Amino acid sequence: MDLVLFGMQGSGKGTQSQRIAEHCGLQIFETGAELRRLGSDGSDLGIKVKGIIESGRLVPTEVVMEIIADFLHKLPAGKSALFDGIPRSDDQKKLFDELMLKEGRSFKGLLIELSEPEAVKRLTTRRMCPACKTIYPAAYTAETCEKDGSTLITRQDDTPDAIRVRLDTFLEKTVPVLEAYKTDGKMLIVNGEKSIDEVTVDIQEVLKADFQWA
Ligand SMILES: [Zn+2]
Repeated sequence: MDLVLFGMQGSGKGTQSQRIAEHCGLQIFETGAELRRLGSDGSDLGIKVKGIIESGRLVPTEVVMEIIADFLHKLPAGKSALFDGIPRSDDQKKLFDELMLKEGRSFKGLLIELSEPEAVKRLTTRRMCPACKTIYPAAYTAETCEKDGSTLITRQDDTPDAIRVRLDTFLEKTVPVLEAYKTDGKMLIVNGEKSIDEVTVDIQEVLKADFQWA
């Protein structure tokens, strides 16, 4: 069983994704990371991807699906995948569902649910360490990074306007995908407004029927 993870910006999806992958033995598929890997691997697909990226164009959904297929073919036997950040639109969902069917893979969705006001609050108040890139939530009140003592800064892409654009894209494009998976009875849901560790406990609970947490 594979897992497809959904969550608005600020939901803590990245952290939970790492924890789920580690405890359930899943291999993470994250489009940006795959593009960077393929861009330097010299395969036919890699050369194609590199050309698209260097031309400054967006990677078309069809090519993203080729990349997913390539990733699935390279997964060790019996290993399951954790998709982070895909599919994020109806067009992608259609092709993704077709691909998973063709590849004979079954999957569940997992939504880390967060209200829009809470997402805005978290994104506008979080800070980052410029040295080690650790993100600190508003609840962390010290001025400096607990790992290396650097003075924390606000991320440049966390301006109110930029946050608005990212959330609107999610609401407009990705929420219909979530709704469709809910209708299909494929979606597991946890409340993302709790603390990071509490959310992990809830995730462990909802995954229990389909995934082994070790
Ligand atoms: Zn740091």
